Amino acid sequence: MARLQLRNVEKTYGNGFKAVHGINLDIHDGEFMVFVGPSGCAKSTTLRMIAGLETITGGEIHIGEKIVNDLAPGKRGLAMVFQNYALYPHMKVKNNLGFGLRLKRKPKEEIAAATDDVSGILEIGELLERLPKELSGGQAQRVAVGRALIKSPEVFLFDEPLSNLDAKLRASMRVRITDLHMELREMGRPATVAYVTHDQVEAMTMGDRICVMKEGHIMQVADPVTLYEKPANAFVAGFIGMPEMNLVDGTLEAGEEAKLTIGNQTISGGPTLAARLTRQSGPVKIGIRPQHLNFVPIGTENAFNGKVTVIEFMGHEINLHIDIEGHSFICVIPSEEYDRSIKRGDAVAVTPLVERLHVFDLESGLNVSLGGEDA
Ligand code: ADP
Ligand code: MG
Repeated sequence: MARLQLRNVEKTYGNGFKAVHGINLDIHDGEFMVFVGPSGCAKSTTLRMIAGLETITGGEIHIGEKIVNDLAPGKRGLAMVFQNYALYPHMKVKNNLGFGLRLKRKPKEEIAAATDDVSGILEIGELLERLPKELSGGQAQRVAVGRALIKSPEVFLFDEPLSNLDAKLRASMRVRITDLHMELREMGRPATVAYVTHDQVEAMTMGDRICVMKEGHIMQVADPVTLYEKPANAFVAGFIGMPEMNLVDGTLEAGEEAKLTIGNQTISGGPTLAARLTRQSGPVKIGIRPQHLNFVPIGTENAFNGKVTVIEFMGHEINLHIDIEGHSFICVIPSEEYDRSIKRGDAVAVTPLVERLHVFDLESGLNVSLGGEDA
């Protein structure tokens, strides 16, 4: 068991490019931490520095009680699963599984027992005599996890382990890995996990906590519910949630009425919003999730008026695209609540759910509607 700490960790590559800008993070003992962010934000770089596959050019990494900056990868007590699985192609599954232990010169009986144990947990017993090329993507993925698990590492590192699988398999492997983490916990062998993905669904469903990254900076670290309900900034707000949060430029008039203006239309957030605001009047970004816009009859007070541009039928819900003052909004409505007479080009009115809307500072991007408690 081990906790993992990053202290002002920096990475400048040999060509002078600074990929990681002094990040700080504590991953608790037994915690499942997901690193998520767009391609190029330095998720892999961070993970590879933890693994020891990449040098650290500033700061410290602690695993358990040790500073591991200069410790060889094999001595860090961790195991890594890569996107391409990196199985040895000429070795049978059982030899791929046992390879790490053979390197450590463990006795044959011990390796056999560990192989049994792991193949039982991952249900890959019937694959032991096969070569990697005789495995499906999902099976190869399980073997790759098995090869990590067999080392009984204190820390598991995963770098986009599901990216090469089709959508259906990805969904089932996602559940499997989360389940495995729980099982190990219940078996009294809890593992600390650092899991990299660019997929927000994986991040939201798998992580005890999620570390959202952008361009080598940490934007927010929080549990999934907090991330969704209280995004610290406009970047996290736009990154987490589907469809994306509507984020439009507008103006805030602070005070009791807490007025928000988009183009020529103004609504009042009233005391509900006023109580949460932590800044003065001025230009802001207004954030409203597509699920938090309600259709109201035209002429209703405190509504934004717009025109329907696109209607997407998704099955259980409808994505309605609405143009409001030249800004494109998406509005999600459950199919059974949808008025089927609405057509493209129709004038409509929507009111945001005031208790769930967000206001962001235009320059810093910081959420200024968290009531001070989380700001
Ligand atoms: P992610 O895994 O989030 O997609 P990476 O950690 O792979 O991002 O890369 C982060 C940034 O560092 C990118 O801009 C990438 O181009 C750059 N980078 C990665 N490896 C190297 C390298 N060996 N030399 C220089 N720059 C690199
Ligand atoms: Mg990567």
